[in-house]
Amino acid sequence: MRIPFGKPFIIGKELFNIARAVMNCHLSGDGQFTQQCHQWLQHHHQCQSAMLTHSCTAALEMSAILCDIKAGDEVIMPSFTFVSTANAFVLRGATPVFVDIRPDTLNIDETLIEAAITDKTKAIVPVHYAGVGCEMDTIMEIAKRYNLYVIEDAAQAILSEYQGQKLGSIGQLGCLSFHETKNVISGEGGALLINDEKMIERAEIIREKGTNRNQFFRGEVDKYTWVDIGSSYLASELIGAFLYAQLEHAQEITDARIHICQSYHQQLQPLQQTGYIQLPNQIGNGHLFYILTRTPQERTDLIAHLKQRDIHAVFHYIPLHSSPAGLQYGHTSGNMSVTNKVSETLLRLPVYYEMSLSEVNTVVEAIKQFYAER
Ligand SMILES: *Cc1c(COP(=O)(O)O)cnc(C)c1O
Repeated sequence: MRIPFGKPFIIGKELFNIARAVMNCHLSGDGQFTQQCHQWLQHHHQCQSAMLTHSCTAALEMSAILCDIKAGDEVIMPSFTFVSTANAFVLRGATPVFVDIRPDTLNIDETLIEAAITDKTKAIVPVHYAGVGCEMDTIMEIAKRYNLYVIEDAAQAILSEYQGQKLGSIGQLGCLSFHETKNVISGEGGALLINDEKMIERAEIIREKGTNRNQFFRGEVDKYTWVDIGSSYLASELIGAFLYAQLEHAQEITDARIHICQSYHQQLQPLQQTGYIQLPNQIGNGHLFYILTRTPQERTDLIAHLKQRDIHAVFHYIPLHSSPAGLQYGHTSGNMSVTNKVSETLLRLPVYYEMSLSEVNTVVEAIKQFYAER
């Protein structure tokens, strides 16, 4: 029995919705399904405005433009994240300043942020790793005191909360991903969540290639023209059609993934107690499940052991601060000891919506067997 690392799925009316979009003769962006996605996100993620994009990467790039990030600016973020978190700001000429993560949540260590602030700092980009919220009270308080923007990279955080507030709706801007590796999917896809009303109009323009096309269609202006910088950040209506069917089942998807992660956690607890592995202490929205091995070599051996049994487990991230582009475009603030340690020993186990508990058991048994031989 092959157990893949992840598996895209359909859960409801995805294909039916796509057929309807085709029959409605509306395939480009901002049709009926896209509008339904916007309403769903505004309601369930409690933001002022939600805009579908072709990726979370696009939403992050829009955020950098909206916050007027320019050459010479600095943006504080963790090094333990996906490249898009940094790339969006580097594209505008800014310098990412990397801060270490907390060993418990693997989120940016909020106690190290203030030391990274200089008079060039413009924004903080907390990444909610595994859908577990960063310490947003502290981060928002620091941002307010130093007059900085907060852009939440909530790529992994659909439906997750921090103290009763949806992630992505706490900073001025939040970015979600619907990439096929995330919880709720549309192949490629993302959304920009806007919590500062003053940014909404400009976001519409940036998303529409720098034109006032949306205002023109609403009859607010009499010509449609180039008014600002921008790009083509919107998603096709076909993506909206697929995505809306998934959003209708978002809670069900989340619950199923949480259940899988809880099962891993419970069954692997004995290995944590004997000191072989370390487990996460929060499950978040069930986006991912990881274990930490004692050494990098042990991780390599465990991956090979699982692979022999046709179980596919993977690791991430190569820290941005020591990657070729990170060295060229960014710099660190303080030491990166937790980031370095975690990136060498973290192993992600298979999690996907359709994963059965017997598949979870197969993975657990293979890991137990590996440690029984040690
Ligand atoms: C997946 C991911 C992204 C990028 O999302 P895309 O939709 O593929 O552009 C950005 N940041 C984090 C933390 C992610 O996990």
